Amino acid sequence: MKAVIIGGGIAGLCMGIYLHKNGVDVSVNERKLGVVGGGHAFLMHHEGIAILQALADAEDCILPGKLIDTFVFKRPDGELMQTMKLDDWQCFKRTDLTICLAGLFPASRLNDGRIFSHFIYRDEKVIAAEFTDGTLEYGDIFIAADGANSIVRQQIFGDINFKPGIVKEVVGIVNHPEFAGLYTGKFTKFQEKSRGLAFGLIPTSETELVWFMQYDPSLGDVKDRSAEQLKTFCFSMLKHFPKKVTSILEANDFTTSYIWNTRDFDLLPRFHRDNVVLIGDAAHLALPFTSAGTTNALTDAKVLSDYLLTSMNYLSAFEAYYAHRAAEVNKHVLLGRELRDAFISPDSSSFTIPLIMKTTTKP
Ligand SMILES: Cc1cc2nc3c(=O)[nH]c(=O)nc-3n(C[C@H](O)[C@H](O)[C@H](O)COP(=O)(O)OP(=O)(O)OC[C@H]3O[C@@H](n4cnc5c(N)ncnc54)[C@H](O)[C@@H]3O)c2cc1C
Repeated sequence: MKAVIIGGGIAGLCMGIYLHKNGVDVSVNERKLGVVGGGHAFLMHHEGIAILQALADAEDCILPGKLIDTFVFKRPDGELMQTMKLDDWQCFKRTDLTICLAGLFPASRLNDGRIFSHFIYRDEKVIAAEFTDGTLEYGDIFIAADGANSIVRQQIFGDINFKPGIVKEVVGIVNHPEFAGLYTGKFTKFQEKSRGLAFGLIPTSETELVWFMQYDPSLGDVKDRSAEQLKTFCFSMLKHFPKKVTSILEANDFTTSYIWNTRDFDLLPRFHRDNVVLIGDAAHLALPFTSAGTTNALTDAKVLSDYLLTSMNYLSAFEAYYAHRAAEVNKHVLLGRELRDAFISPDSSSFTIPLIMKTTTKP
């Protein structure tokens, strides 16, 4: 069996590693040249880390990332609402993790700079992926790991009905050794009591932190996304937040920050058509409150490769994969919306902890 993977992000690389390790002829085809960076950093649940750790251990490789074992939830005036133990989450810089995963996959099978264009069919079955440079990759199965804006998904299922997540996020990464030390091991979130505005902070290394401002755009927004405007906007929204928050903004390089319009989509009725199957954000998308996107991407890769290696044929593997994953990813879509609603319209008599604690991943 020859497998062609489209997209060399977390899901695509992890899928490639699993299949290659188990003797499957596989290629990963990524549109960007070189290492896929961007996106700054992310928090990963324990279940995702366990998958990565097993892959890294098998190759004697050291995983990047910073242990995050405590969630601290505060109000902007400093009132402590909750401190919770996390079951060993980690914060990764996206670039570090991509480099690590790419190092576990043979370079000769990783084709970068290849932008998927369309499939070539014979007898209504896909026989090759064609890229915009005219190159072709023939295969027996095609695994789309091309992210939330998946072209493959659009071509096999048609346009998706994205639901605007309403909430927006400004994200930045900042070099601040003092605070990286002070907040070590902690995901700290300051959230307003009666309206949708929050600031979160997570160390990614001994010297750096990733920060985000989540906001309900009805409270204020910025049209011009230039670095100067973005900086002014963040300062004005967060002026009543603790001094440490403004120190982080002071140290931040706003030319590398951006605004992320959150969104999701309803669970698809299936993740495959014939010999093409979707994984990761291409298959399902939840709002950011879940911090579960990467764990779900890795779990998809693990579960699908397990079924491909043990099933009679790829169709039964694809069906088993959907049966296994659909309920869990749908739970995250729904929980993401619940957390979003609690963020925008908080209950004045109680508070919701803005976090999902557990995912279930056992194949
Ligand atoms: C600002 C932000 C913060 C986030 N924070 C978190 C967090 O804290 N925790 C968490 O778990 N998740 C977080 N996520 C979500 C997480 O990043 C995704 O769920 C995860 O990256 C999904 O992995 P993936 O491999 O499916 O998709 P992606 O990481 O999007 O990878 C898709 C890959 O496909 C490639 N590609 C796209 N189109 C083509 C094409 N036509 N041809 C070839 N290649 C193509 C892309 O270049 C990319 O490399 C965050 C997302 C964002 C945007």
